[in-house]
This record gives sequence, C-alpha cells and structure tokens, in this order.
Amino acid sequence: MRVVALSGGVGGARFLRGLVEASDPDELTIVGNVGDDVEVLGLHVSPDLDSILYALSGLADEERGWGRADETWNALESAAALGGEAWFRLGDRDLGLHLVRTAALRLGEPLSTVTGRLAASLGLSSQLVPATDDPLRTWLATPAGRFPFQTWFVARGHRDEVDAVEYAGADAARPAPGVLEAVSTAALIVLAPSNPYVSIGPILAVPALRTALAARSAPAVAISPLIGGRAVRGPADRMLERLAGGTTPAHVARCYAGLIDALVLDEADADGGAAVAELGVRPIVARTLMDGSDARRRLAEAALAAAAEL
Ligand code: GDP
Repeated sequence: MRVVALSGGVGGARFLRGLVEASDPDELTIVGNVGDDVEVLGLHVSPDLDSILYALSGLADEERGWGRADETWNALESAAALGGEAWFRLGDRDLGLHLVRTAALRLGEPLSTVTGRLAASLGLSSQLVPATDDPLRTWLATPAGRFPFQTWFVARGHRDEVDAVEYAGADAARPAPGVLEAVSTAALIVLAPSNPYVSIGPILAVPALRTALAARSAPAVAISPLIGGRAVRGPADRMLERLAGGTTPAHVARCYAGLIDALVLDEADADGGAAVAELGVRPIVARTLMDGSDARRRLAEAALAAAAEL
C-alpha cells in the first residue's frame, strides 16, 4: 500500500520509525519540512530532513533527541575558539552530511536530489523528499520582535510567545519533484505527530501541495502531537493555546481543516473525541506516547487501521 507521510523532525521521525516497521518501507514517501532550514558557518542545514535521515538509518541519538549518536564536538569548539558562531550545535559526524549537502547545492543540485542521494547512501528504502526545493522559511512574530525559526527556537529557546507564524517564500514555492505524484498515487496520507504550526504548517503552505491534499482521493489521517492537552516536548501546546485558543483534539483538527478524515488522539484526550467528530473528522483513540519501539509501531498500526475503515 502506497503511503505518503508529512513530517517534521523529532516527533515525526519517531513516528516514521514505527511506520516503516508497520508497513512496507519501499512504498513510503516522506514529505519533509524545510521551513526551519538554516545556514550555519556557511553550511546549509535541514534539521527536519536530517532527523528523519538519522532516525530511519539508526544513527540518531535517541537520548538527546536530535543529531547523531556517539557525537563529538571538536569542529564546533574550534570554530567557537576562532570567533565562529556556535549557537547552533553541529557535531563532528553530523558536519559530514552538511558538507556534502552544501557542496551539492552550490553546484546547483536541487535540495530534493541531494536529499534522495543522502537517503540512498544511508540505506533508506523509503523516499524522502523536501516539500519544496524553493526557499521557504518559517518566521515567528513575537512580542520581542520577528525572528527566523532557528533564532526563535534555538538561540532564544522558544521562550517568546508566538503571535503569528509566517511562511516566507511559500506563495512562490512549488512542490519538489515527486511530491504531487506521491500524493495522487497514495492509498493513504498520514500527518505525523509533529508541530502543526512550525513542522506541518510550512509543508501545507506550498500552494499546489495544499490544493492536492484538499482534492485527495486517498484518506488522510493525522496523529495529534499532544497528550493530555500538553506537548510531549516543545512549544506546540503553547502555540495552540495562543494561536488557536486551546489544546483539545478539536483545536488540533482545526489546524488541518479540509485536509484530514481522521485524527488519532491520545487516550488521555478521549473526552475531546466528540468535538472532533462534529468537525466531520473521525476521532481514533489510541495510546500515542512513543516511548519505545513497540509503542511506535503500535501507533503506526493504529493510524493504518484507522485508514482502512475510512
Ligand atoms: P521538530 O520539527 O524537531 O520540532 O519535531 P516535530 O514537530 O516533528 O515534533 C515535535 C512534536 O512531536 C511535539 O509537538 C511533541 O509533542 C510531539 N511528540 C514527540 N514525541 C511524541 C510522542 O511520543 N507522542 C506524540 N503523540 N507526540 C509526540
């Protein structure tokens, strides 16, 4: 069964590990977020694509939640000692990937092409495609000013409340090659348990991709990133509270209005299922904490089972 999954970095990648175990990885196309891409020390970093690459190739540092296992930091330390920027942590092993990608982009290779090569080199059998090859960057308007995503998230520790999210460049962004084909031939579309505003939002901001998802023939299932109305990690709950007025499953479902047929929500949020159903979205109650490989696989199976009933 062909599956398309829209995904951010950490939460998304965790779910994708379950999905490749619960379904045929050869039939999976992952559409990744590039809104939080950043240039650091002259290198093009795609944090969400990299989290997915590392998670699916078994290279990720599971405890830290980002970057590679067995990492060392010599290059960054020497850059810092020489007055280079060190606010964005790039480990020695991780740097290899950024060097390869940056060199390819400088030679004019599109991000999707180099991402495909990196995925193949790391042994992934699924397709990993950025939502777009065009420049699309997430900006946050906050009471302290307007910041690019990584300045807000990493440098300022996402302490500023968010008044608005902007996807700069989105209007002119075209889906990367293969994205629309994957959506039109998929038997199932999955929105991973990622931040709706800063992980899935930038993907949905690509106009032709959004149109294709709205006109889908396959069922679309989202998994809520909230448990008990709280983010497992990160600012999703604070953002939903301020931007959408609450953190119930219905608030999550409304982020994807017209784009999903079912929402997998946690047992702790089961009370909110009826309000989701009123939106015309089928609520599916499951245990959604991915605290191990069994839990990841079971959550993926719940999403697949939900789709089979739609
Ligand atoms: P980022 O791009 O690296 O910020 O990662 P994502 O947006 O893909 O993932 C962040 C989201 O994943 C947060 O909103 C978390 O609440 C959510 N998340 C992380 N772990 C889990 C989990 O075990 N279960 C669920 N349901 N959500 C999770």
